[in-house]
Parts: sequence; C-alpha cells; structure tokens
Amino acid sequence: MASAHCPVCKSPLGSWEVRPLFGCHHCRWALRANVGDAFRRALVVGVLTECLLLLGLRLWFGSWLDILDVWFGMGAGLGVLAGEVVYSHSLVVTPLRPQKHLRANA
Ligand SMILES: [Zn+2]
Repeated sequence: MASAHCPVCKSPLGSWEVRPLFGCHHCRWALRANVGDAFRRALVVGVLTECLLLLGLRLWFGSWLDILDVWFGMGAGLGVLAGEVVYSHSLVVTPLRPQKHLRANA
C-alpha cells in the first residue's frame, strides 16, 4: 500500500507499520497517523470510481448484461488504484511528543 515517511528522521515507513499510534523503527520517535480518516476517504473514492465506471460503461454499451463482466474486471482494479492514490495523499504522520535535546552536563 502507500508509503509514508517519518517526519523526524525522514526515513521511509512501511505500510504495515503505520497505525494511529506507533513508533518509528529508525529513530524510535513516537508518531501519530490519521489512518482511519485516510482509509475512509480512500474507500469513498474507490466506491465512487467504480460507480462512475459502471455508469460510463452502461452509457457506452447500453445493456447491463454486456457490461457486468467488463465492470467486474476493470472496476475492482480501478477502484483499488484510485483508493490507494487517495490514501497515500491523505495520510499524515505527525510526531507525538516534542523533540528533546539531551545535554551531557545538565
Ligand atoms: Zn524516524
């Protein structure tokens, strides 16, 4: 799925790592991501894309029976692709705590 980057160390984060609350495995910084909002937006855009494709095919071919196999093949792939693009653009990863500098003589 989508790739995100750590806002602190700029290292890439795997999609399996990104959760509402998680830690960067490179710099160990606590991070927050809007996974739920991004997923809901991706789901809405994916479903709308499939509906628009279905309506476009219906206008092009004119018969529901002629378009069902084309829609099942194309609609799923196009809807997932559109949803993934929206997910990757709407996912925001933010640091959870302020940065602290440790001094040796403090
Ligand atoms: Zn990091």
